[in-house]
Amino acid sequence: MATERTSLFIFFGGTGDLAYRKLYPSMFNLYKKGTLREHFAVIGTSRNKLTDQAFQDEVRKSLGTAKSDKEAEKFISHFFYEAHDVTDKEHYSVLRDRANELDKQFKLQGNRIFYLSLAPSFFGTVAGYLKETGLTDSQGFDRLIIEKPFGRDFDSAKQLNDALSKSFEEDQIFRIDHYLGKEMIQNIEAVRFGNTLVESLWNNRYIDNIQVTLSEKLGVEERASYYDNSGALRDMVQNHIMQIVSLLAMEQPVSFTDVDIRAEKVKALRSLRVYNVADASTNFVRGQYGAGDSQRAYRDEDNVPHDSTNETFVAGKLLFDNYRWSGTPFYIRTGKMLADKFTRVDVVFKKPLIDIFSFPQNHNAPLEANVLTMYIEPKAGFTLRLNAKTNGQGFQTTPINLDYFVDDKDSKETPEPYERLLHDTMKGDGTNFASWSEVSYAWRFVDQIRKVWDLQQPEFPNYTPGSMGPAAADELIQRDHRQWVYRLNK
Ligand code: NAD
Repeated sequence: MATERTSLFIFFGGTGDLAYRKLYPSMFNLYKKGTLREHFAVIGTSRNKLTDQAFQDEVRKSLGTAKSDKEAEKFISHFFYEAHDVTDKEHYSVLRDRANELDKQFKLQGNRIFYLSLAPSFFGTVAGYLKETGLTDSQGFDRLIIEKPFGRDFDSAKQLNDALSKSFEEDQIFRIDHYLGKEMIQNIEAVRFGNTLVESLWNNRYIDNIQVTLSEKLGVEERASYYDNSGALRDMVQNHIMQIVSLLAMEQPVSFTDVDIRAEKVKALRSLRVYNVADASTNFVRGQYGAGDSQRAYRDEDNVPHDSTNETFVAGKLLFDNYRWSGTPFYIRTGKMLADKFTRVDVVFKKPLIDIFSFPQNHNAPLEANVLTMYIEPKAGFTLRLNAKTNGQGFQTTPINLDYFVDDKDSKETPEPYERLLHDTMKGDGTNFASWSEVSYAWRFVDQIRKVWDLQQPEFPNYTPGSMGPAAADELIQRDHRQWVYRLNK
């Protein structure tokens, strides 16, 4: 049985899509595992007028359980509701009194987690009022969970951070990047620092390049109005991809704690080359999907302007100016309406300097590069591509794969990212959240690309649904005499 954690949760935006679809089911998983037991309570808030009873009915629906499910009913009995407009300062005192009441009733030791599942424009206001009205004055811990996006460029992110840090210290702020809650992302650290074989080769002497691909099969769906103001660069690169890249590029942390891991990630991001205008134009490409067989073009999607220049695809080359990585590029790409839905990292090693098996009489195909592929999702595991001798007479080599995949039974046990992240917040462990320094360096890098793109009119649409993006994404890597490990028609 897991260690029980004690806290009051206040969900702002507690009747929203994220809360019902992800947060409450994740909390129920924590309840079933025993992390949450008797000593927790939840206040859901939003502007809607609901009774506790009506809110509990909605929570039950979100769990997909029936009233006859005793365990679910006990869990739901910890849920309460307060109609609350986050811009109404006076009303925070009502929330505070309710919080104090529940604190006594459930013996919560004054521990409080404030989850802002709201439009980001409200984040600063809520944080300020929580402090001003004494909701953060209880005896236990006070932690603030912030959903993405964290700003839309460095300046707005800094403004937001300045507002939050008037009321909360950095170690009380948990900035969600749900990719960091994924099992296989956390495995990057295990594979690197748990294996001499891997870490001793993890540098520019042995690695030729690293490729990170976050590929989505769907289009914008119902998020068009948000997405058209954001684009793939802000929506995926600034946060998820930069987080993955910093885990791949960082040095070994002094210890496996949030403080030490974050310090190394920040150090890596500080050595990421921030491009000037010319380099940004050459090293980054963007795309927007056109129409496919039964698919509308992005510009014809609901709530997307017909002349939108928003990018639904990005590919780029990142360079770290440090001793470990100088000369070894990291290629990244992400987009919507691509061939398949998956996230993977391909680490391409250098080929042996001399290929002694390929000589004219032997007709052996040239040796292929070793590739370590980390499959993040939907399947989770690794493959290591090695060269081996084919069975039989003569001496021919062929690439073979050593595989490890999490089996189906185990993958059912894999915690949902939000389950893990809620758990980490209760423990006060910030490892799998983005620190302000990481966010700020990521924005500084991304802002340069955005600045250049905003000056140039793109020729959109430039890729077809079901492909792996525009031809320019292939040209980007082929120019360096390399190719994407995952490519179509291979
Ligand atoms: P949503 O629109 O479904 O819900 C927003 C909630 O905020 C509702 O409960 C609404 O009643 C409440 N609200 C709005 N104005 C309010 C006010 N003035 N006072 C009090 N409550 C108010 O949004 P969502 O999809 O649940 O997203 C919430 C946050 O999570 C956003 O920051 C979003 O970017 C982020 N996010 C959502 C998802 C997702 O899958 N839905 C994924 C990643 C990030």
